[in-house]
Amino acid sequence: MRYAVIADIHANLAALTAVLEDIERKGDIDEIWCLGDIVGYGPDPAECIELVRRYRCVCIAGNHDRAAAGEIDTRYFNAHADAAIRWTSAHLTEKDTAYLANLPLTVEKGDFLLVHGSPMDNLFEYIIGKGIAERNFGFFQSRYCLVGHSHVPLAFKKGEEGCLPVSLSPGVGVVLGSARMILNPGGVGQPRDGDPRASYAVYDGDGHIFRLFRVEYDIEATQDRIMQAGLPVHLATRLKEGK
Ligand code: ZN
Repeated sequence: MRYAVIADIHANLAALTAVLEDIERKGDIDEIWCLGDIVGYGPDPAECIELVRRYRCVCIAGNHDRAAAGEIDTRYFNAHADAAIRWTSAHLTEKDTAYLANLPLTVEKGDFLLVHGSPMDNLFEYIIGKGIAERNFGFFQSRYCLVGHSHVPLAFKKGEEGCLPVSLSPGVGVVLGSARMILNPGGVGQPRDGDPRASYAVYDGDGHIFRLFRVEYDIEATQDRIMQAGLPVHLATRLKEGK
């Protein structure tokens, strides 16, 4: 079985469409796993929810999904994120709001735990360093954990002498063995590692290979939609910078 792993779509329809087309081109993906934040920041929340549902993605909740559904306070969001959440909430149907509110915080799929932030703090913690990764290995039982939230492709392996970062490069497969790992496929709709291309991964369950992919998409189309929607300009400009 082969699985595509997507995260942090952030209502960027052009990016999501490009990634789904790339997945379809590969042709033999059995299931898509989505690590949350379908909405927030971007201009097309309803369309992105519709696509995630149409592709029957296995999906968990992100902090922006819960905030847009009115389930969590946006007090800890920055001003741009907060403005986008208010805009998003006002542009969702009741059905979409209920969908976001009911997404589970975690899902187990085979050897993987799927969670947006971290096993310790499902919605808010960023696993961006060795120390945080190390601590989190004590908070899940499965061999591997897939996370989103930072919008940066990263992987950590639990070794005999502690936790080690594992580099993820586009097109290069990482073999998942007996060592426990935490992996982030990067962000579809708002990458933050300096590469503006949409990021996602494919896990080949037969060869146990996790492989990152980057996909070009029409950034200007999303920027135009952000401006038309009256969302903060910064949310448009950052897409081109990939941060
Ligand atoms: Zn996010």
